Amino acid sequence: MGAESPKEECGLFGVWAPGEDVARLTYFGLFAQQHRGQESAGIAVSDGRNILVYKDLGLVSQVFNEATLATLRGDLAIGHTRYSTTGSTTWENAQPVFKTDGRRSVALGHNGNLVNVAELASRLGGPSSATTDSDLVTGLIAAELGEAPLDEVALRVLPELRGAFSLVFMDERSLFAARDPNGVRPLSIGRLPTGFVVASETCALDIVGATPIREVEPGELVRIDDRGLSSTRFADATPTPCVFEVVYLSRPDSRLQGRSVHESRREMGRILAREHPVEADLVIGVPTTGHAAAQGYAEVSGIPYGEGLHKNGYVGRTFIQPSQSLRDRGVKLKLNPLPDSIRNKRLVVVDDSIVRGTTTKQIVAALREAGAAEVHIRITCPPVRWPCFYGIDMPTRQELIAADLDVEQIRDYVGADSLGYLSLEGMVEAAGGGTFCRACFDGRYPIPVPAGVGKFVLEQRPGARTG
Ligand code: SF4
Repeated sequence: MGAESPKEECGLFGVWAPGEDVARLTYFGLFAQQHRGQESAGIAVSDGRNILVYKDLGLVSQVFNEATLATLRGDLAIGHTRYSTTGSTTWENAQPVFKTDGRRSVALGHNGNLVNVAELASRLGGPSSATTDSDLVTGLIAAELGEAPLDEVALRVLPELRGAFSLVFMDERSLFAARDPNGVRPLSIGRLPTGFVVASETCALDIVGATPIREVEPGELVRIDDRGLSSTRFADATPTPCVFEVVYLSRPDSRLQGRSVHESRREMGRILAREHPVEADLVIGVPTTGHAAAQGYAEVSGIPYGEGLHKNGYVGRTFIQPSQSLRDRGVKLKLNPLPDSIRNKRLVVVDDSIVRGTTTKQIVAALREAGAAEVHIRITCPPVRWPCFYGIDMPTRQELIAADLDVEQIRDYVGADSLGYLSLEGMVEAAGGGTFCRACFDGRYPIPVPAGVGKFVLEQRPGARTG
């Protein structure tokens, strides 16, 4: 998917492993999760007495080098890569957030988005200087810290939070991980020979050589320190993990709810082929998320699978470009057709989603320009009609092409010969079944969104989109 992609949220990593180079492990864990946020990166390390935080704007490999990592010595660490879903891109908003009263300290990394920020801010008494919901949560914890153990404080604060939150946090001695009762954003635990690791995605456990144990349960608080791993529940679990993690956000080599993301995407392609068959000569995927589904589509349809678009992996994430005209140019920098593969062929082009429609329109035009005889677009999820309030930066409802247009109108807008979306049932089945958050497709928000939060973005623009 290209320039108009929903923005990834944040990547979390935490490690408790005395005797190991915990900062370097965290660096690798963040590096594996760079796709979850490219605006800032940070690591907090504790040697048992003091927490040291180093963070900056930029990619993980830009923020850290040998010299900075060498200064971060300790027994436990947390790390964070950020894409701003709330607050602007400033150094202050980079994470981990750090608060101290001079004696006790807490560092925290958050993935997700809270929907009761105003209510929480009032608990801190008067206007808060917090510019992000993550800052606010850290402030709430720090305000209650005193002499109390951090898990005791967390068990008072966590039930007050509404929305999506996967958290890693630490004091000088202990590492904590928590997940909201709906488990909207992922968080997994792994074991090292000398300790434990937690990470948003299992690919980050793999990269540091940790053995995945299990996910942090929705509504669970996990503490890891020299007493081992202990678990407490702060709320009943009502699991509705984000299905979009499976469709697009997570890395294909990660596992969600025990299931390979790659395999789920391949299955989406298989079901898509049954739901929307078409006569064609070649199936291609839009790099890179579309590849697995394109293979699944080819497998069921019997149409050969091949490469038709090259992605320049060195082009920076095009979403950092602020204007639509720059975004329009960005996709051309990033995706280029392979004319010899596609000339005079009827193509099935598999992509993960259509958000504004502009990227798909450009892909169709570029493929036709390169000689494709027909272009049939197949999408591995239903039309995205509603914004996300749980940590994925989707455009407002007014900007979502499917909010106003039906499938035939969208087909006409993007200029494809045919357009087929995977059904809601097909998507959920391919993701392994069970309950998911799928609010951006059906508008049914599993965690109530207060009226004030959703007022603007939930309004539908009067009149139809003109392009
Ligand atoms: S609204 Fe969509 S993107 Fe947001 S959490 Fe739900 S399924 Fe995921």
